[in-house]
Amino acid sequence: MRRKLVVGNWKMNGNLHQLAEIAEIAAAAKAAAGVDVALCPPFTLIAPAVARSNGLAIGAQDVHPAESGAHTGAVSAAMLKEVHAQLVIVGHSERRAEAGETDAQVRAKAEAALARGLQTIVCVGESEAEREAGRHVDVVTGQVKGSLPDDGHEGEMVVAYEPIWAIGTGKVATPADVAEMHAAIRGALRERLGERGGRIRILYGGSVKADNAAELFAVPDVDGALVGGASLTAAQFVPIVEAAARH
Ligand code: PEP
Repeated sequence: MRRKLVVGNWKMNGNLHQLAEIAEIAAAAKAAAGVDVALCPPFTLIAPAVARSNGLAIGAQDVHPAESGAHTGAVSAAMLKEVHAQLVIVGHSERRAEAGETDAQVRAKAEAALARGLQTIVCVGESEAEREAGRHVDVVTGQVKGSLPDDGHEGEMVVAYEPIWAIGTGKVATPADVAEMHAAIRGALRERLGERGGRIRILYGGSVKADNAAELFAVPDVDGALVGGASLTAAQFVPIVEAAARH
């Protein structure tokens, strides 16, 4: 039985005044039994968010594969651990698009994060053109194979399926679309990692909101959600957490 996991991704949003939202989300997360909750604010808010987290897991949205060195603007897994981050998102489609990250680079980041004991969420997802061409399953299972580290790590790995056309657009994949892809990802995980592939959680991400969360959580192999826009306020995020707790 895989426990549901709901993760908020604040992207490049949030300032010190919004830490009160984090405290509110943390209180609700504590009250929601049977579900894991985490929030990934920008790097600048990780340490102050941890101070108000009340047990809520706080993470980052990216990590550099190296330990330290001449990598201007980057942050290492060791640095994240030092400020008590517990998880990191790697390979988000916005980073794949804006920073040109390849599967190999995403995999190197995931390996570095897992080696340092950070829970690691590896994002995969197809573009609208790839879906329209009927290539979506091949593209996404190819990303799973190329972006995920091999077994042997102690840390916990999570996959997030985020169809690019559904991120921040208000378009949500249908339950049938999600079921098809999560089953394909589960198959690729088992093929790649054997029995361990059955234990890895697969999150859905893409315009998840309070009013569609329950329907998505009911889809087989949907083990939670990665939430962008609707994670910015407790008012929008907490009902998603509560929907996960009911499943
Ligand atoms: C995301 O960026 O991971 C995401 C799913 O965004 P949104 O919920 O805003 O579509």
